[in-house]
Amino acid sequence: PHRPTPLVAGNWKMNMLVADGRALAAEVAAGAEGLAAGFAVCPPAALLPVVGEAIRGSKVALGAQDCHAKASGAHTGDHAAALLKDVGCTYVIVGHSERRQDHGETDAVVAAKAEAAAAAGLVPIVCVGETLDQYKAGEGVAVVETQVDGSVPASASADRLVVAYEPVWAIGSGLVPTTDDIRAVHGAIRARLAARFGDAAQGIRILYGGSVKPGNAAEILGVDDVDGALVGGASLNAADFLAIGAAA
Ligand code: PEP
Repeated sequence: PHRPTPLVAGNWKMNMLVADGRALAAEVAAGAEGLAAGFAVCPPAALLPVVGEAIRGSKVALGAQDCHAKASGAHTGDHAAALLKDVGCTYVIVGHSERRQDHGETDAVVAAKAEAAAAAGLVPIVCVGETLDQYKAGEGVAVVETQVDGSVPASASADRLVVAYEPVWAIGSGLVPTTDDIRAVHGAIRARLAARFGDAAQGIRILYGGSVKPGNAAEILGVDDVDGALVGGASLNAADFLAIGAAA
């Protein structure tokens, strides 16, 4: 079956100011050139134009961290997918666990955002992942299957969709699931996508995210059905982020 080119996406979260964001982006852009993987950086929204300028002409794509489900209108503080596209984004993360937790985003909200993203010409990176309690209860696969079914919109097309499996308990914690756990969840996600998209599901990138570092990247990225990584903390250091990319 067709295997997609791996994607390594950096989620900068609420970090970086103008000067350090520009410098980090430029360093990533320069270092990514010789590497086979695809790269994206997802800075805070206000930094998108600055970072877009710093990576212009490079192989690094621009991504946002969230968009609104509505195309435009009275939504103070939110960002329209069309604006994100207009400032140069290729990708937008939707349904990150921090947004599900901090902003009460449900699967239905995440699906609406993913739909708005695709309608604006962006590729949504739809995030799913179980909590520690769910993991300990052996419910991880079932939780993630439900999230995939509910968060990937009915209108999604397989060639414009990325899914990221991010166990909530592995984000920023230094903890990572076993490779067997990752294989099981990624395989289950692929199966849910195949039920929806048929053979085209083989081409959908399923990223792993949660405490990916240079030291564990090769092992994680070598697992079946892992098509790249969504990287938080380690994406704030160009050398670490590029080392993860080199392992993909
Ligand atoms: C994330 O939040 O998307 C993430 C993967 O964070 P970290 O790499 O810091 O665990």
